[in-house]
This record gives sequence, C-alpha cells and structure tokens, in this order.
Amino acid sequence: MALGLYILLRLNKIEWVKVIGLLGFNAFLFLIACSESSRSGVYLHFVSASAVAIALYRYEQWKRSFLFVSLSIMFLILVNVKTFNILPFREHTEFIDNLLFTLNVLVSAFIAGYSMYMILSMNHDAENYLRQKQLTIEAQNKELQKTNEELDRFVYSVSHDLRAPLSNIKGLTALMTMDTQTPREEFIKMIESSANRMEIFIRDIEHYSRNSRMELNMEYLNLHDLVADIIKSLSHFDNALKVSIENQIPADYVVYADSYRLRIILNNLINNAIKYADLAKEKPYVRVSADLENGFHHIKITDNGIGIKEEHKQKVFGMFYRASASSKGSGLGLYIVKESADKLQSQVTVQSEYGKGSVFSLRLQMIEK
Ligand code: ADP
Repeated sequence: MALGLYILLRLNKIEWVKVIGLLGFNAFLFLIACSESSRSGVYLHFVSASAVAIALYRYEQWKRSFLFVSLSIMFLILVNVKTFNILPFREHTEFIDNLLFTLNVLVSAFIAGYSMYMILSMNHDAENYLRQKQLTIEAQNKELQKTNEELDRFVYSVSHDLRAPLSNIKGLTALMTMDTQTPREEFIKMIESSANRMEIFIRDIEHYSRNSRMELNMEYLNLHDLVADIIKSLSHFDNALKVSIENQIPADYVVYADSYRLRIILNNLINNAIKYADLAKEKPYVRVSADLENGFHHIKITDNGIGIKEEHKQKVFGMFYRASASSKGSGLGLYIVKESADKLQSQVTVQSEYGKGSVFSLRLQMIEK
C-alpha cells in the first residue's frame, strides 16, 4: 500500500493519496483494534485519524473531512460494541497493556496536536495573506479615487480651456465682419495667437497621455546635444530672442534615461524659464547646467525671471495650476514634468524667489556605461 501511495504521489494524484491513505489508515486501525483488548488504547488513533482528515481537507472540503470523521467514529463505536474475529485475538499482560496504552495516548496526542498545529498555521498564513491583499486593495482604491478625481478635473479643465480660445476665434471672426476700421492683420494676429494657445494645450494633453501609456525606453543620451536641440526648437518663441539662453553642459556629458521623457521635462522647464523671463531686467538669462554629485546628476535650469511667490511654490506641479495671471499656458506643463520625472524615478524640485528668479532641478540617478 505504501508503494501504491508513493507512486500516486509521484504522479501528483494528491486527492487519491488522501482518500486511499485515510481509508487504509482507518481500516488498519479497525483491524488492530478488533484483535486487541480496548485496554491497549488503539481506538485512540481514531481521534488522530479524524484530526488528520480535518487538517487535510480543511474548510474548503468540509464534506470530505466530515465523511472521514464519521467513518472513524463509526469504526470506534463498532470496535467497542461488537466483537469481530477478523485477525487472531492477541492477549497481553497487564504491564504490556499499560505500556501500549501510554504509547498510544502519546502517539495519538502527538498526531492530533500536530494536525491542529497545521490547521492553525494554515489559518495564520491565510489571515496574513488576506491582510496583505486588503492592504493592496486599499492602496489600489486610493489610487483609483485619485485617478477619478483627476479625470473629473481633467475633463472639466480641458473642455473649459479648449472652449476659451475657440470662443475667442469665433468672436474675432464675427467682429472682423462688422468692424471695417481696424486693419485685418490685427484680427489675424489675435486669431493666430488663440489658435497657438489651443495647439499648445492639445500638445500638452498629448504629452500627458503618452507619458502615462508609453513604456520606458532607457538609453545613453548626450545631454549637451539634447539641450542644444531643445533650445533651437524654442528659439522662435516670443521671448526667446530677448533672453540669453546658455547651454553650460559639457559637450561629452552623458546620461542614462528615456529620451522622450527627458526631452519633455527639459523642454517644459526651459520653455517656462523663457516664458516667465523678466524682460524689465537688464540681462534676462536662462542657464542650463548639470553636475554629478553622490551618484546623481543634478540638471539645473536657472533663470532670473519673474520668480514664483512663496504660496504658489508647492502647488506649481499640480494639474492645471497657473501661478501667475500672465500665464498663457495650459497649466499642465509642470504637472507633466512631475509625472515624467516619476516615470524616470527621478525627482524634480524648485527654488524660487519672487522678483529674482527660479531654479528647477532634476535629480537623475547616474548609471555608468
Ligand atoms: P503654464 O502652462 O501656465 O506655464 P506650468 O505647469 O508649466 O503651466 O507652470 C505652472 C505655473 O508655474 C505657471 O503658470 C507659472 O506661473 C509658474 N512657473 C513655472 N515656471 C516658472 C518659471 N521658470 N518662473 C516663474 N514662474 C514659473
């Protein structure tokens, strides 16, 4: 029988092993108990057999454990109320009977105790697992709630911010047909500016959505070239010609990052530094620099622009947050910067003094080639 169980176990027929094992154990006990005096206490093993059945089947298969417990109880009653002469009866001296009784009490107590321990330990594991699951679900719920709130705000702001320049364009075209005094070029300029605003807004939304969807594609990038490219692409913007934009990054400075995200981050930060330049100052400037400290790149965008008031500093990375009335942007730029930095497992921070200027820093982990 032991060999049969072993083969079944090797074949991974666990359910069969349990059924045959418990049936065999109960039948074996029955035969032994029938052939001995009850003084030897063999019947005690029916209690162990019940405990083993409960431990093996647990609550999920309570019907099976109930069946095996009933079988053990039935055998226990049978051997105590009736005499069965299946095996030859073995008579022991009182001393041997006492010895066997003590042994059987000890062994059955051990088996029953161990089975209970197994049940308790499985319950404990299950409880821990559930607690862990609950924590995960709570965290996911919080995340979901945050996403839902963001989505609400997003839809509200998007429709509002898209409608504003559109209404402007509609109003201007209506005015154009009525007002014959003002030169057409002025209207066209204003319409163009509204259209530009709309374009920037749509571009920001696209960046936001792509950042959350796209997989990271990490690679070694020449930071100097990337910044030079961004500065070039921004050169036709309003303030760009009036501001001195300095790329102070050494020509061979290399970082390991996702080029799409890093470009979005730097593009937004440099663009903001140009947009919020203080043209009343003698030499408005924007400086982009990078240095390595304790295994981290610190990429800094420094400007002597209008600066950010203390009360806005912590909020500028929020969705649709505009810290100044002069902002013509979507209020999404720094939010996208923060989200993209999170994706790169990097941190972006701001230091700013209202009226003096700002420093935005990106702390990016250095990974050697
Ligand atoms: P926006 O589209 O309005 O530029 P951002 O999310 O890029 O939105 O920036 C949020 C706000 O932070 C801006 O409205 C602006 O008031 C402020 N800000 C961002 N960068 C600078 C900067 N370099 N200097 C001064 N203010 C800034």
